[in-house]
Amino acid sequence: MPLEKAHALILRLVDFSETSQVVTLFTKEFGKIGALAKGAHRHKGPFDSALDLLTRVRVVFLRKSSGGLDLLTEARLEHRFRPPDRDLTPLFAGYYVAELLLGLTDDYDPHPELFESAAQTLQTLSQDGEINISPLILAFEMNALRLLGHLPNLEECVECGKPMSTDQLVAFGQSSGGVLCQTCRPGKRHIAQINGESLNTLQWYARCKGNVDLVPPHQITGEIRGVINHSISHLLGRELKMQKHLRFLAQSEGKT
Ligand SMILES: [Zn+2]
Repeated sequence: MPLEKAHALILRLVDFSETSQVVTLFTKEFGKIGALAKGAHRHKGPFDSALDLLTRVRVVFLRKSSGGLDLLTEARLEHRFRPPDRDLTPLFAGYYVAELLLGLTDDYDPHPELFESAAQTLQTLSQDGEINISPLILAFEMNALRLLGHLPNLEECVECGKPMSTDQLVAFGQSSGGVLCQTCRPGKRHIAQINGESLNTLQWYARCKGNVDLVPPHQITGEIRGVINHSISHLLGRELKMQKHLRFLAQSEGKT
């Protein structure tokens, strides 16, 4: 069994026995892994209280060759996720980031840029002071979809490639994977009508590659949330649990 070293974010912790935990990690080098941490509950030990949800750690683990759980042998704390406690929104937004990574990524499928984007988002959520969480999370979602090859086509018709104008209502095909022109729209199912301004905002977020500072201020409407929530739940085949705990993710009913 090879001994591996990695940078990781802790996505999930489940008690396995009185002393052990099963840890799901999103590593920069290997993608998502599941590992058993023996002695995880001991205060002094190889993990030294680094095993905490959404903590950024350096880990050493033994990779199992025949499937099954890897064995975590060491975890060293790099950044603890501890948002200011006056409001639960940044905490829940962090859980939402973890839920997205758990749902959208596969075991041993590395995405180092996505790792950096998630680590940066969690660090911003931990900051003291005013944070504008809604654009931060939208930028992360769009970047995650882009890096995983699931970003909806927002610039031209997904069927015929005709550039879309943003000065009118636009048809967004949830199961088509992007916007549809008036010629290609008939007969398509799961269509949401969005206004041109919402499409324009989505296009900005798609281009910003996770850097929210590059996006001019736009209102993130329920219509925009509807498009992104649908795109994500379409990919996963279910809704994300944290969606109902985060008011800024609320969507308005799309006209279909
Ligand atoms: Zn078309």
